[in-house]
Amino acid sequence: SVFERIEETDSDIKAFVTLTKEKALEKAREIDKKRKNGEKVGPLAGIPVAIKDNMCTEEVLTTCSSKILENYVPPYNATVVNKLSEAGAIMVGKTNMDEFAMGSSTENSAFYTTKNPWDLKKVPGGSSGGSSASVATAQVPLALGSDTGGSIRQPASFCGVVGMKPTYGRVSRYGLVAFASSLDQIGPFTRTVADTAEVLDVISGNDPMDSTSVDLEVPKHTDYLDKDISELKIGLPKEYFELVDDEVRTLVNSGIDKLRDDGSEFSEVSLPTTEQALNAYYLIAPAEASSNLARYDGVRYGNRFATSDLKTMYTESRKEGLGDEVKRRIMLGTYALSAGYHDALYLKALKVRSLIKEEFDKVFSECDVLIAPTTPTPSFEEGANDDDPLTMYKNDICTAPINLAGLPAVSIPCGFIEGLPIGIQVIGKPFDEGTVIQVADRLE
Ligand code: GLN
Repeated sequence: SVFERIEETDSDIKAFVTLTKEKALEKAREIDKKRKNGEKVGPLAGIPVAIKDNMCTEEVLTTCSSKILENYVPPYNATVVNKLSEAGAIMVGKTNMDEFAMGSSTENSAFYTTKNPWDLKKVPGGSSGGSSASVATAQVPLALGSDTGGSIRQPASFCGVVGMKPTYGRVSRYGLVAFASSLDQIGPFTRTVADTAEVLDVISGNDPMDSTSVDLEVPKHTDYLDKDISELKIGLPKEYFELVDDEVRTLVNSGIDKLRDDGSEFSEVSLPTTEQALNAYYLIAPAEASSNLARYDGVRYGNRFATSDLKTMYTESRKEGLGDEVKRRIMLGTYALSAGYHDALYLKALKVRSLIKEEFDKVFSECDVLIAPTTPTPSFEEGANDDDPLTMYKNDICTAPINLAGLPAVSIPCGFIEGLPIGIQVIGKPFDEGTVIQVADRLE
């Protein structure tokens, strides 16, 4: 039935780049057999899952929606893919994305743009737009995405689904194709907060294959569902409310009003460096990307330009294989890191990052969670920002600071503006996904 639903809808939505029907059916039969024999099956047994195409899948294409990797088949699985499989989930395919996760609309995919299921002329958000659209279209109840500056939460907001970025280090990045290694984090898209809690229980935890994954006990996130929040202190960061459209602010405020009778203490808080966060993000993320993407030289991975001259092979392979936005990021990043500019740009951005982190620490000494908008606007028309990368970058204003500070945050649906969904964001202390789930569950 999952593949029937995908067949029915995906010619319009274009959420998937690869389907893995044979493997999926084989896995489903395996689980069926186990069940019949009375053997133990995992907590996600039989749940269909879609995986963003920047997570390595053994013997299955992993393209990052880039021409340079269009034929790349990894010999191993990302840790999250193994964990889901061990829990019994069934991968049904790989989803479309902005090339190498750089973008906010999936328009930067080298293949095609995914459509917003609420209005096919609008974008689903990005970079995990295929995953969010797939869950919103009810093709699958669960998809994984990655979030470097908002790429789970922004498309969740645009598509009207739940999308969570865990704390940096909570979920293993082993097998996630690196964009900006100090910011990237994998997380789920689901239709309910309860489902997100279930999935977090499965994918979280230390992994010896990722030295940045943290060795901390993982609480049972499902224990935080249906819980009283009267003891909690909730902060409302005023800068986030100032940076969004009036309609978004009104809607998010009415979402918050739903909690007013629960007895929690509300206070307005200030994170003054928020406005500088985007500038810092758009130096740090490209700087790391310029280094990470140096590996696509036509030698080890993907497409190679045929020539006997080594230098021509490098340059032509990259010229042909990488899209405009990826090239723009590599140039920005290389510039920011180059001798003479390093201190003025990259180093300064790192200082801003430290300030942002300190401001969050301070606010979290007084609050348990923060609630804020996820995106400044609802979804926009395809092509609207074609000649205007800076306007596109502004999509990340409410999400990127959270990656810079490494915090957990979830976006859940909050209502509609002219037929388009919009999300509300709950932000937590490091490794306190539990309280984030607790509050999000009340907001749902
Ligand atoms: N939109 C942001 C960017 O283009 C975030 C991307 C992401 O989180 N992967 O960099």
